[in-house]
Amino acid sequence: MTENPFFAPSTLPYKLPPFAEIREEHYLPAFERGMADQLREVEEIASEPGPATFANTVEALERSGQILKLTATVFMSIASSDATDGIREIETEIFPRLTQHGDSIHLNRALYARIKQVTTENPEEAWLLEKYRVDFVRAGADLSEADQGRLRELNEELTRLATTFSQNLLTASTASALVVEDVKQLDGLSESAIKAIEKDGTYVLPLLNFTNQPALAELTDRETRRKLYELSVGRAPENFGLAARMAALRADRAALLGYPNHAAYSVADQTAKTTDAVEEMLGKLVGPAVANARREAEALGEQAGFPIEPWDWSFYAEKVRKARYDFDGAELRPYFELDRVLRDGVFHAAGELYGITFADRDDLAGYHPDVRVFEVFDADGSQLGLFVFDPYARPTKRGGAWMNNLVDQSHLFGELPVVMNNLNITKPAEGPTLLTFDEVNTAFHEFGHALHGLFSDVRFPRVSGTAVPRDFVEYPSQVNEMWATWPSVLANFAKHHETGEPVPAELLEKMRAAERFNQGFGTVEYLAAALLDWAWHKLVPGEVVEDAEAFEDAALERAGIAFRLVRPRYRTNYFAHVFSGGVGGYSAGYYSYIWSEVLDAESVDWFKENGGLKRENGDHFRSALLSVGGSMDAMSAFRDFRGRDPRIEPLLERRGLLT
Ligand SMILES: [Zn+2]
Repeated sequence: MTENPFFAPSTLPYKLPPFAEIREEHYLPAFERGMADQLREVEEIASEPGPATFANTVEALERSGQILKLTATVFMSIASSDATDGIREIETEIFPRLTQHGDSIHLNRALYARIKQVTTENPEEAWLLEKYRVDFVRAGADLSEADQGRLRELNEELTRLATTFSQNLLTASTASALVVEDVKQLDGLSESAIKAIEKDGTYVLPLLNFTNQPALAELTDRETRRKLYELSVGRAPENFGLAARMAALRADRAALLGYPNHAAYSVADQTAKTTDAVEEMLGKLVGPAVANARREAEALGEQAGFPIEPWDWSFYAEKVRKARYDFDGAELRPYFELDRVLRDGVFHAAGELYGITFADRDDLAGYHPDVRVFEVFDADGSQLGLFVFDPYARPTKRGGAWMNNLVDQSHLFGELPVVMNNLNITKPAEGPTLLTFDEVNTAFHEFGHALHGLFSDVRFPRVSGTAVPRDFVEYPSQVNEMWATWPSVLANFAKHHETGEPVPAELLEKMRAAERFNQGFGTVEYLAAALLDWAWHKLVPGEVVEDAEAFEDAALERAGIAFRLVRPRYRTNYFAHVFSGGVGGYSAGYYSYIWSEVLDAESVDWFKENGGLKRENGDHFRSALLSVGGSMDAMSAFRDFRGRDPRIEPLLERRGLLT
């Protein structure tokens, strides 16, 4: 065990973690040493004899725990992208201990007392100091000894439940997969899609993480659709009980910390600040969105010739698109080849906007052969960071798409960022990887987060890049989606994978016309999930939910969003944003996506008003917003960029909700 790669800083370029050297048996010893080292460092900071200063307290905390940070960063990344059984065992063992470790720091009274003594005139330092103070208060630093004991217990149990919840979910994606013996039942799927799921004469269609499985749009056999849909909404049923238990514990914890419910606790340090603000915003959208979805349902019923069921929605939505707009999404696929989308689309747009360039670093290894590494250079040729790209789905990867940092940019350590994007694209058995338009859009979205990390230009790691409020963090990534359909960008990447022919202009025209159809569905399935998350976290202490499914139905009904044909994008049992991934996650935070879309819609308007894709615009967005990361108030950064407060109208207009 002498050669544990976590015990020394990485010697690779940009301190990329040495994935090729890391083995499963390295994690536990590295976590243990990392936690012990940090506790010792914290003890030293807390027992420092002289007066508390920014340097010997806050900055010293920023510097503490280097081994733990490296180990945890790599482990969390692997636990999301390549969680073998061994990794999952470590997860079960280590997450509760990490929670305990965090509590040991935040509930250290001597340390907290010193933080409260620190003063500083420097604005960047003052901002960070306040962040630390708030972190400590929110973690229970002001509570009595007895209440802190209770808080520790709650945190530990929540961590355990969350780990079980996410592990159940990972198992369910294959355990609840649709198994088909007769290939005829898969009629409608492409040949290559069928080939990719064939295994010893049977066909296994794994579940993706949301309610509405993409195959529902293509499967012609109604009975197959029904089965797939029911497997999707019914997966991991044991998670209903876990979720109810977690919601109750979170209510208890909120009460301990002085809040009426978990939602109030959760939004207090967000840009929303109050539950009223969130409810007012969601309330404006529900009525018009449901009305839109009902109109769409009528059109689908007419197309089908019978009253449709939930599993018919996507299939007939495609039919209506063909009939009304003469548009077939499948026709676009040959024009969206993964490598072209990435290089000639995503990278190209970033080049036009910010002047940055990319170089392949095939000499640098990821944790899996499919992972690719790129070096990113600024307009003047200087080094900016590394971009790590893991596009493909695999049984060991969790659902969805996300960005994470492997190395945080900071001047404190003189470190440049290493950022990563994960997608969940099905790897074809052979031949090129052709994407749907949704997948193209997701690639642009995640790269928007990557840019937020890459352009970070701050002193302290705690506020680097995407370390902004959760209800703000989606905003830059949403803005980056606008370039996926920007004419000059599309023309650059959307070329037929065999002939190199550009995508026909009329096909794009039809796509744009068809885009507005099914907005009602998209908005309702999202809002239903956001309101479901909200209902779970407005529970008050002592309010026990025995039947989570009944609670879910009642909550949607109460919120005015219950619509039999459009279930929430995530039901309780597979709402990973809210019930898995440690204690925090997106609990009482799923509203964030539409909250930040207000800023996104405003910003897209700004880019359009100012001439679109050009350096000047990119540079302004970068310097006012992206590069400051979390080093200042998020809404002030928005105002610096936009020149005023946000208005909701551009969002309503975009979503077809203006009445
Ligand atoms: Zn995102």
